[in-house]
Amino acid sequence: MDFKALANKYNTPLYIYDLDYMSVQYEKLKSAFKAHSSIMAYAVKANSNLSVIKHFADLGSGADCVSIGEVRRAILAGVPPYKILFSGVGKKDDEIKEAIETDILYINVESEAELNRVEAIAKELNKRCRISIRVNPNIDPKTHPYISTGLHENKFGVEIATAKRMYIKSKNSDNLDPVGIHFHIGSQLTELKPIYEASEIVADMLRSLQAIDIELKFFDIGGGLGVQYDDETTITPYDYAQAILSTLKGLELTIICEPGRFLTANAGYFLTKVLYEKKNGEKRFVIVDGAMNDLLRPSLYNAYHKIEAVSKNDGEKSKADVVGPVCESGDFIAKDCFLPSLEHNDLVVVHSAGAYGFGMGSNYNTRARSAEVALKNGDDRLIRKRESFDDLIALEKEFLD
Ligand SMILES: *Cc1c(COP(=O)(O)O)cnc(C)c1O
Repeated sequence: MDFKALANKYNTPLYIYDLDYMSVQYEKLKSAFKAHSSIMAYAVKANSNLSVIKHFADLGSGADCVSIGEVRRAILAGVPPYKILFSGVGKKDDEIKEAIETDILYINVESEAELNRVEAIAKELNKRCRISIRVNPNIDPKTHPYISTGLHENKFGVEIATAKRMYIKSKNSDNLDPVGIHFHIGSQLTELKPIYEASEIVADMLRSLQAIDIELKFFDIGGGLGVQYDDETTITPYDYAQAILSTLKGLELTIICEPGRFLTANAGYFLTKVLYEKKNGEKRFVIVDGAMNDLLRPSLYNAYHKIEAVSKNDGEKSKADVVGPVCESGDFIAKDCFLPSLEHNDLVVVHSAGAYGFGMGSNYNTRARSAEVALKNGDDRLIRKRESFDDLIALEKEFLD
């Protein structure tokens, strides 16, 4: 990849996404489930650039959304409403209303109180709303606590007994149509066993619902499939699919999978330019023009991203922290990584930045967000302009008196 040419053309800091790599990941996962009817519903929050969503829509993907803004993005990008899901623990009334009016595939409901709201809103609209219930199987996914979601101590989903009550209520309601069951135990999963165990618990629940004449059509396995950031061993799509399918023997359902990170993380690069080097005592810092407001994961989760100097890897390397200009000690992109001696305007590339990168960005310190570029068939094209100072103050300026 010609990072130098991209930096010259688009400037830095810059997000770069390899759409061809995203296609490969998509096909790998889709084909792992080929023995079964399935829908891949791309988890939009991982990378919500319209052109990225459209790329997946063109491959046949649906969209898993966690706000009505994401639903609107998915529609704009060409995802058909019948492949759109709406998940999340805290949906507002107007979001629920719009989701029902848009006639999306279903709403993933995460509490009894939410079910009541959905029912009341559907009733006002004189509609029946298709729903799925997110079950919290109380399984430890063995991932970072911030991205674990399937334990009772996490805010997501409802217990089995509660879910059962909710299905019975839904079945007896004129305004609710229970069509699916959902679980999502966490992100960056690298062990198969917790996924298998969760799937087994949810499949058992499904069978017990069948016994009381509640027939669901969709088995929604969430997302969470991990990727390699460093040297972790990951689960293959084939093993993942087999583990899930093995729990569904004798059940005829459409599988819904909500991959985010798996499709986009390793397709993305964050390109940043060296401003200076400095030493505080023995400690070496490389100060770059990208910061925590561009790529928050290191600061937020202490996440590891592989980092390299562009076309400078022959020189002797020494230990450094790579930090940005933001006024926080927590503003770092990499700690204790090995880099050659770097000069003003040298480029540094951060790998695996395609998921939870740009989307978690902010304007902290009045820093404009990076531009985003897509690569496809060897061509590069801008898919989001670099923000300007005027963009940053647009909503405040008129109030200055
Ligand atoms: C975040 C999320 C996903 C995607 O998770 P990844 O780890 O990126 O695959 C899928 N489903 C739900 C409900 C989510 O909240």
